[in-house]
Amino acid sequence: MSFPLISSHDMRLWLQWPALRDEDREQLKAHIAALEALELEPEEESEELVTPIEQRFAIGDIIAESGLYTPPMTKDSPRKRERSEGEELSPSKRPNMRGGATSLNRAIYDHGNATIVDSNGKTIPDGTALPGVLRRKESEPPVSIVGHEIANTLYDNIDIIAKFFHEAFSYDIMTGFSKIPASYKYGKDVINAYWLGDKDQAVFGDGSSTIYNCVTGDLSLVCHEICHGIIRHRCDFTMSNSGESGGLWEAFADVLAIMIIQRHTKRKDFWLICEHLFAPPTKARGFRDLQAPGTAFNYVNDKGETITDASLDHYSKIGSKSEKYPISTVVSHAFYQSVCASKRPSWETVGPVWWESITTLNNSNKKMKIQEFATLTARMSAHGGAGARMAIQLGWKKIGINV
Ligand SMILES: [Zn+2]
Repeated sequence: MSFPLISSHDMRLWLQWPALRDEDREQLKAHIAALEALELEPEEESEELVTPIEQRFAIGDIIAESGLYTPPMTKDSPRKRERSEGEELSPSKRPNMRGGATSLNRAIYDHGNATIVDSNGKTIPDGTALPGVLRRKESEPPVSIVGHEIANTLYDNIDIIAKFFHEAFSYDIMTGFSKIPASYKYGKDVINAYWLGDKDQAVFGDGSSTIYNCVTGDLSLVCHEICHGIIRHRCDFTMSNSGESGGLWEAFADVLAIMIIQRHTKRKDFWLICEHLFAPPTKARGFRDLQAPGTAFNYVNDKGETITDASLDHYSKIGSKSEKYPISTVVSHAFYQSVCASKRPSWETVGPVWWESITTLNNSNKKMKIQEFATLTARMSAHGGAGARMAIQLGWKKIGINV
């Protein structure tokens, strides 16, 4: 199963852009067809997790208290310590955050725009050519080949991600990985990025000069895709292409991406996924806005209708036909609301509670509901003190969920 950054539903909206050239419109239609085929793929019943079981044992007492996962006790299991109500834990003492220096091992590949023609006569990325030509591995100097500078951007962006997890959550993103592979120049004219579950790697298309710029260079996009992989290696959670479970999956990647960008850029009030990615003729601020879902892109079509992204901002607006991306913004908007309520940077109070909750999930055999995850965060917030608990409850309440 693979996970694109954006759905066919949102891409269909883009077809109405007045600024779109005919060749771009045809290209977009081909991408929509490819995405629709992907979205129709049967979902996995359960996922074989790569995370070694002993690593999950080490996450200790909070997991046991959550009721979602009971680790078997070993002689090395952490001893449970009683905490007083409202006691704050320093980041280094948060029980399910693994400490230790990161041993980052990046591998940046050039897919070389490799394509094949499928049985329907369509030109698609050649999966057999993945990951591609290795252009830069860990500790090597920057790539100097003209036209491949983006390999260095990708290399640097993964370092930003690793530093965030290490410094904010004391977590080594190499957990479960021997290396973190990412391929650029994926397929030809691909205006999307994916975490490929079967290949266990991220891939980035070239983008389009009219629709949007090179996707590999956008930090939030790289964060989103790499975080899919990090979560997949750390959390026992069925990945899903649809419904609330799919929405949670996408929201987790967006929320982690936003925290990384906010901390890296020192912009605590920044909430856009893929800012500045769209080419100038479009009036889009980004793909998704966690602060104000449904306002990221906004334009008037040929009929004079205003088209906006399909993001949702309240649980009651989720319908039976809602796709996972609009559902995801209900969840990520709750995160935004909680961070505002906490009056602290996202990664200091609310972020750790969400990360602990994500890494505590144990429901590989069933789809997760948003209410279920919200309840888990409320339980976890008890370890972050009264401020965290209040902020978490208020955030979920704003989108119509009581915990
Ligand atoms: Zn995604």
